[in-house]
Amino acid sequence: MTNNFKIKAVAATLALVGSIGSAQAVSIQINNINAAGVGFNDTTPATPVGGNPGVTLGEQRLFAFTYAANIWGATLNSNVPIIINASFEPLTCTATSGTLGSAGATTVFRDLVDVNGNSVGVPGTWYGGALANKLAGADLANGAAVIRARFNSNLGLNANCLPGSPFYLGIDNNHGTQTDFPVVLLHEMGHGVGFQTFTSGSTGAQLAGFPAIWDHYMLDNRLNKLWVNMTDAERAASAISGNGLSWVGANVNAAVPDVLNRKPNLTVSGVAAGTAAGDYAVGEASFGPALANPPVSGQLMPVVDQANGTGLACTTLSATNALAVRGNIAVVDRGTCGFTVKALNVQAAGAKGMIVVDNVTAAISGLGGTDPSITIPAVRVTLADGTKIKAALTKRSRTSSGVIGSLGRSLTAFSGTDSQGRILLHTPTTFSPGSSVSHYTTETTRNQLMEPAINPDLTHSPLVPSDLTYELLKDIGW
Ligand SMILES: [Zn+2]
Repeated sequence: MTNNFKIKAVAATLALVGSIGSAQAVSIQINNINAAGVGFNDTTPATPVGGNPGVTLGEQRLFAFTYAANIWGATLNSNVPIIINASFEPLTCTATSGTLGSAGATTVFRDLVDVNGNSVGVPGTWYGGALANKLAGADLANGAAVIRARFNSNLGLNANCLPGSPFYLGIDNNHGTQTDFPVVLLHEMGHGVGFQTFTSGSTGAQLAGFPAIWDHYMLDNRLNKLWVNMTDAERAASAISGNGLSWVGANVNAAVPDVLNRKPNLTVSGVAAGTAAGDYAVGEASFGPALANPPVSGQLMPVVDQANGTGLACTTLSATNALAVRGNIAVVDRGTCGFTVKALNVQAAGAKGMIVVDNVTAAISGLGGTDPSITIPAVRVTLADGTKIKAALTKRSRTSSGVIGSLGRSLTAFSGTDSQGRILLHTPTTFSPGSSVSHYTTETTRNQLMEPAINPDLTHSPLVPSDLTYELLKDIGW
């Protein structure tokens, strides 16, 4: 479900002018630091759209910002206003991908002391300015902005920057194929108020030798060690672990079942399953019915239509293959034709489901494509898992394998979580500056606001049951 529309997190620096935006629980002040005539001050005429009454591009951008600031303002609680320096400016972009925005704390504090002289927060630990101010109950930044936010001024307005995907400036989420600016604003402000670590993900080095509050909640689920207790090398390794870094905050953990969907799952059983018996992670198809419980179950039967023993199912099935899959779940191989073509062929032969075995060694991913005439569920398994399952099918008859597959959803496990049900952080095996570590994994459904790339189905709520962003902020002290 992810696309190339990145949203990046970075820490940055400051400046000041004007102010708009406030709300009930914390006042959020937006300092527009664009020069006259550009960015938030762009005077290009605009037509009011989706609840945004602005009549210039700049007015609409600021109105949307105020709308999003009010959402965070009503959610967070602090007696110190949160000041954000914000600008539109050119950010990294090509015709097919780009950075929508970037934001982070301008300043960090540790060993906090409140107005009564009491120590607050975790000692020896960095907090971003917004949260440090809240915990201290005083403005430790002496009136300076605590967040710097940038938004891409070229997006959709330039052939070299995602033409056709400009920011949608309405506030009604009716963005269609455009990029919903309120979502981008909520995401970037999320980083600014605390959704980031200050420890380097690429080197593992702590900022000036002290951990960030995040580091107390990031667990390497292979070493079973928190970042705060790890060496630089161990932290750097976990940042490129694929799925080895989990968030262990109590608020997020408790809310996972209320927000995330259960993992799609294949259970293999039956008298002939042998060592192939068990649960398998699967990638879901974007066509056909969604996996659900009770699962669709049937004998697993391979399609074999190639000389090398594989089955591509790219053409109408032979009589032998059709007899094998009728009333059963077809096992086919990836390659040569689209997944929907394979699904239509096995469906036409009477199969009740399809498992596509990957043809390369890769992490699990879904099956793309669209065809409304497909009525059977389909999934992908990894090459390793598919090879194991096919090995259990070698003693089959022409119509029966004695190996049962059940395509449904896990009764216990949630998407994007580790074996203990804790949400994973984004740790691709190649380190991605601005994306790795300080985001949730892209493996969740429903999609989360703080994933590294925007998804079109996001709402404007950072709260349960839509989203786990506020729960994480509560974990770190909000
Ligand atoms: Zn981000």
